[in-house]
Amino acid sequence: MIIIFHEKFYENYTHDPAASAGRLEPIIKELKAYNYEFVTPEPATEADILRAHTARHLENVKREPIVYEMALLAAGGAIKAAHLAYEGTPTFAVIRPPGHHASSDSCWGFCYFNNISVSLLNLREYKGIKSAFILDFDLHTGDGNINILREKQHVIQTEILNPHSNTEQEYLEEIAETFQRVGPFDIITASAGFDEYEKDWGGKLSTNAYTQIGKLMKDFSEEKCHGRRYALLEGGYYHPDLGKNVYAFCQGFE
Ligand SMILES: [Zn+2]
Repeated sequence: MIIIFHEKFYENYTHDPAASAGRLEPIIKELKAYNYEFVTPEPATEADILRAHTARHLENVKREPIVYEMALLAAGGAIKAAHLAYEGTPTFAVIRPPGHHASSDSCWGFCYFNNISVSLLNLREYKGIKSAFILDFDLHTGDGNINILREKQHVIQTEILNPHSNTEQEYLEEIAETFQRVGPFDIITASAGFDEYEKDWGGKLSTNAYTQIGKLMKDFSEEKCHGRRYALLEGGYYHPDLGKNVYAFCQGFE
């Protein structure tokens, strides 16, 4: 299990809940306690971004240089995670800004570049993957993932699940049933948001549910995705328990 992280992600790049001070520290503190290997990413290139986004959108983000620099580093972290996963190591990327609300020509919801799409399209380019499954367990629907990857079906065949069941048990069953029904794929990735947590905005999932989700992904990847799996941090705003929830996910996922 590898954790992707860069100290720069601690820096204040804008004013929104994803960028808020003190959000990532508890995650890193928790994960450091468990001897995971940490890998530092490089920023994505413009060519990487342009596989998923329009030149117009790239130029729009560039107008905020500090945000732009951080968004390139987050996308680069996603690419690094994807390559490590492709080579066989389960990887979790602690990155920000998040990406699942970034579409090809627009963005909202604290997102700028679509980290999931940028990483999958990079793997398509350099490793020739042809298919991927995306589990988006953030509270919010990843409209950016959906919009971009729908337009790229001729390049990479993808399926996305954004579970919306009302109870934790039904939510986990929705994932398990979907995993039984679909596949195989060349890789599985997750938009790993933690805002469905019972003390966060969604108010639904327990810490243990994140371990179950990680385990479901692990088993699915080993059965139908060559064991390849990685996850990218999206939302999650209840700082006191973010570290333990990310660790809980990693415990099931590793
Ligand atoms: Zn969210």
